[in-house]
Amino acid sequence: MDVVNEAVVLAEEMTSNFYKYSTSQWRRSRYDIRTLKDLVAEEITDHAFAQILRYVAPPVEIEGDISMRGLDYYKICLQDHVILGALERDPTLALFPLVLYVVTHELVHVVRFSRFERSFDAFPTQRREEEVLVHRITSEILREVPIDGVKRVSDAYQEALLIEGVLLDKLTDAASQS
Ligand SMILES: [Zn+2]
Repeated sequence: MDVVNEAVVLAEEMTSNFYKYSTSQWRRSRYDIRTLKDLVAEEITDHAFAQILRYVAPPVEIEGDISMRGLDYYKICLQDHVILGALERDPTLALFPLVLYVVTHELVHVVRFSRFERSFDAFPTQRREEEVLVHRITSEILREVPIDGVKRVSDAYQEALLIEGVLLDKLTDAASQS
């Protein structure tokens, strides 16, 4: 868990630097990063390193005015078993760079969703284009990180993308929190 936490901190720092986000802007995005132990059944998948769920807050009623819409909340769900499985299969991958890459990738999705650059409910063909673009941005963000293995993960991701398409991280449609 220490390795995961360190990777998350660096991923947040690199991503907010890249987008020139101040800390307050970044916090406004409202997301959480959780590992398997904190996930419920529908947040777990065997086909991706991570997936994002968007929980849409219900409209807030303030003095009879219900036009105020609640903020969306994004839950980045890391799939421990898929990540560990990949590390077992491919000895050239390491935990820190893999988690760094996966979390940075998911944060890029969150930034783009929250800036409305991308709709969360894109068509499959658009999702694929979005995946390709997010991979490119992620590689760019992490290009200067002086950590062994980041380039290797980036390359592995690109190769896998060609084979698996959008299965790399499934974007689950918005689920309402009740
Ligand atoms: Zn993605």
